[in-house]
Amino acid sequence: PTIYFTGIQPTGIPHLGNFFGSIEPWIELQNTVDPGTQMMLSVVDQHAISLGPLPAAQLRQNTRQMTASLISCGVDPKRTLLFRQSDVPHIAQLSWILGALQTTSKLARLPQYKEKQERFKKGDIPVGLLTYPLLQAADVLTFKATTVPVGEDQSQHLNLLGGLAYAFNKTYETDIFPIPKQLTRETHARIRSLRDPEKKMSKSSGGARSRIEITDSRDAIIEKCQKAQSDNLGTVTYDKENRLAVSNLLDLLSAVTRTPVAEMDSSTWSTLDLKMNLAEAIDKRLAPIRQKFEELENSDEVEKILLESGEAAREIAEKNLKEIRRVVGFL
Ligand code: ATP
Ligand code: MG
Repeated sequence: PTIYFTGIQPTGIPHLGNFFGSIEPWIELQNTVDPGTQMMLSVVDQHAISLGPLPAAQLRQNTRQMTASLISCGVDPKRTLLFRQSDVPHIAQLSWILGALQTTSKLARLPQYKEKQERFKKGDIPVGLLTYPLLQAADVLTFKATTVPVGEDQSQHLNLLGGLAYAFNKTYETDIFPIPKQLTRETHARIRSLRDPEKKMSKSSGGARSRIEITDSRDAIIEKCQKAQSDNLGTVTYDKENRLAVSNLLDLLSAVTRTPVAEMDSSTWSTLDLKMNLAEAIDKRLAPIRQKFEELENSDEVEKILLESGEAAREIAEKNLKEIRRVVGFL
């Protein structure tokens, strides 16, 4: 059977990159797959401390806000098993098992590791930054997921995941793990930072003005769009080679309005027109999400959903881990 799995880190409120690269495609799947298809979406709180510890109250709030955000965007806990990673300790156990099949040099060559380790002094890099792709692989394999919807930035990690599933099966002469397939949509799979279009929009880097969060106020959206990087050519053309910043704004508008760039009548616009149209469209799209979030954020419902789904996820994990532990020789 097809089992969908994806994760999102509670490192902040989701931004438009998360929304178009991951959340919106997930909701489309959720609303179109055969009923009964297993769909698992994990708020991966253990990943959120891979760059070092967060204050406990902060982490707790991040998890609650991420869960509330996902539901506000349209994730339906009745159709998606929306659970907190740390409620399923089996994942960490599998991650340790996978560590035996992986080399440190391969992990250290991953682009995200290379980029994020630069924030630390040489002797100060947390172990979790190196080993986080193992935990990510364990997230997926604990549930024997077959299909992993993610944004484009996760391709290298998905390759590693496929390699680990294959290595495990081969080493232990089993076919326990399906080799998971990446599912990334063709458009809007990489939304770029508003301040530095060479980089992707991100929760944990780039600063507040580089991203639009799904709960941003109308005023914040307008300000961020106005101050977004463009260039001084004045007119608007889609040219990724020479006008990456402007092309990113067009891509974003295309995502928000669900209109291909070629069908937008942007030839008469100034870059300021583009920014104002973009701000207007984003605000219109996010307004109902923002409202739902405000209702949910501090309700007890969020924790109730997490506890219930956590139990259901743990049941699946328990069954699978028993099988895995037998194969490995722990049982
Ligand atoms: P962090 O900076 O903490 O890593 P993030 O913004 O990269 O946060 P993640 O929680 O790591 O978000 O990723 C959640 C999902 O969002 C993944 O499927 C990822 O591929 C997708 N995603 C993240 N950033 C973008 C982006 N700029 N464009 C499209 N998809 C994205
Ligand atoms: Mg990320």
